[in-house]
Order: sequence, then C-alpha cells, then structure tokens
Amino acid sequence: MKLNVRYYGDPILRQKAEPVEKITEEIRQLCLDMCETMLSFNGIGLAAPQVGRLLRIFISNVAWEDERGELHLSEPKIYINPVLTAPSDTTAERSEGCLSIPKLYAAVDRPLTIHLDALDIEGNPFSEDCYGYVARNRMHENDHLNGVLFIDRIKGKRRSQLEPALRLIKQQYSS
Ligand code: ZN
Repeated sequence: MKLNVRYYGDPILRQKAEPVEKITEEIRQLCLDMCETMLSFNGIGLAAPQVGRLLRIFISNVAWEDERGELHLSEPKIYINPVLTAPSDTTAERSEGCLSIPKLYAAVDRPLTIHLDALDIEGNPFSEDCYGYVARNRMHENDHLNGVLFIDRIKGKRRSQLEPALRLIKQQYSS
C-alpha cells in the first residue's frame, strides 16, 4: 500500500523517532509499504517519519557509486534501528534532494565515509562501510530519524537563499 508522504512544514518531520522494540508483522508491512511508496516517487531513500511514523527505520536503494560518481541502484534495502559511527574528517559537497521537500536541490557538506550498523527485516544485525554518495544517502535518511532535514545542514547566505522556495513548498503542500 502506498503511504501518504509528509511534506516540509509538517511538525512530525521535526520529531525524534523511537527505536523499534520488536519486529512484528505490522513493522514488516510498514517496511514493505515504505518500499512501495519510495519506488512510486522514484526516490532513492525514505525514512519512517516521512510517512508519519516515528520509528527508527529507513529504506534505500542506493547500492554503490562508481568511479565516475554515477549511482547504481538495487532492490530497496531496509535499515531498522540504524547507528552511524566513525564519520570521516574528510568531507565532500554534493547536491541533495528529499521527497518531503519537493523539487528543491542544494549542495550539502557531509563526511565522505561512514560506518553503519542496523537490523534487517528479520532482525538480523548487519553492518556497512559506506563511501561517497552511498554514505551521503545513509546520513540523509538517518538525519530524518532525528528530526533533521538536509536544508538544516546548509548555513548562512546559501541557507537564506532557499527560504522563498521553502515558503512556497510549505504553502503548496501543507494540507
Ligand atoms: Zn529526505
């Protein structure tokens, strides 16, 4: 089932999500519904607060980035209770967008690599060492679990230049 996406201006996007205590049938269904929702928007990631659920779950289909910087997609992968550690001191700036902030793209500075631990849909722990856009994608989605949006990571004049577009999105998408 396709879920309703929450848009910029919705207070739920600013709240902190709670850990998943137990992977029940309901949680599994939510994960599947999130995958269907992400794919219907041609998205590359989606976090549970973006569909109105304050749970520490995100999904992504960004599998790897080649040496030319092109992204290769996979089937959606599920990350439950993800924990990101060991961000690199080296950072990179690259454009990001978000299903909750339609049609707005802006460059965000983030660490180049990150380590990730999470549970899969069966509750099995797994880890990833992420690089480049893959790391960026995981950090963007993980930020959603803490009520942080990518625009928050843009500071100063560049951030204030986004304000008119953000105001417009708020008007157009708030229900
Ligand atoms: Zn997003």
